[in-house]
Amino acid sequence: MSTAIYSHPDCSLHEMGDWHPETPARLRAIEDQLILARLDGLIERRDGPPATEAALLRNHTRGLLDLVRDNLPGAGKHYPLDGDTLLCKDSYQAALRAAGLALAATDAVIGGSIDNAFCAIRPPGHHALPAEPMGFCLFNNVAIAARHALEVHGLERVAIVDFDVHHGNGTEASFRDDPRVLMASFFQHPFYPFTEPGPVTATSVNIPVAAYSGGDVVRKLVQEQWLPALHAHRPQMIFISAGFDAHREDDLGGMALVEADYAWITHRLVEVAREHAGGRIVSCLEGGYNLSALGRSVAAHVKALAELD
Ligand SMILES: [Zn+2]
Repeated sequence: MSTAIYSHPDCSLHEMGDWHPETPARLRAIEDQLILARLDGLIERRDGPPATEAALLRNHTRGLLDLVRDNLPGAGKHYPLDGDTLLCKDSYQAALRAAGLALAATDAVIGGSIDNAFCAIRPPGHHALPAEPMGFCLFNNVAIAARHALEVHGLERVAIVDFDVHHGNGTEASFRDDPRVLMASFFQHPFYPFTEPGPVTATSVNIPVAAYSGGDVVRKLVQEQWLPALHAHRPQMIFISAGFDAHREDDLGGMALVEADYAWITHRLVEVAREHAGGRIVSCLEGGYNLSALGRSVAAHVKALAELD
């Protein structure tokens, strides 16, 4: 597969204080491991423009845009949106760039210049509700990109697969009643954001798993629940909310995945994409807070996207 990595220095401008685990150091750790895995010379690097307001407004309210843009604090200061989601002076710029890279990757994959893409972006997005920031997330990058694929490019069916340890409640809220969008995920339960799992339906395959679950549990649910639903939905494009905080070394999560599990899940998604979607995948970084495990897991994920392993 021809794969590109989308990134931009703006995504490192957003910071929420030295104590905060969602830090610009995460992107540096990813870059280090891409070099160590010798992927930096093999995978094309791209960037893209900031998202337009029109693109954000396909998934979010004007009120959310105003809330973020109008509360940017001065240099060195933070404005708390909730207990663990804060703005610094450059947060709006970083968030627009993060969504913009997901949009640029979507355009490129649909345009056919690459098969798939990984977006090394922050702030993350999957907890961001249509009208509310939440859980380190300002705007929902994957949801914005999926809406762009549906409403600008005219795709009729897409899938969003979320393997972050936390429930992608923002994404689920955006598409709960939209038959064009299949959401497939697993999430540690009970755990943040403490949403109750909904019923499994043809387009909502969000599976709670117990703490300490490892690759055996996850691979089984992928085989038995995600894959049949994905094949039935026949998505024309797959978006991945790629969080790596279900890694066993990640203290923010309580699960036990390893790099090989992320590679295995990615290979299964590449197979589904090849069968139904012309190979089209756009994967966007969500969580992952142990810097070493994050970098190694992203390298395994990108290698699998590019089928270099
Ligand atoms: Zn997470």
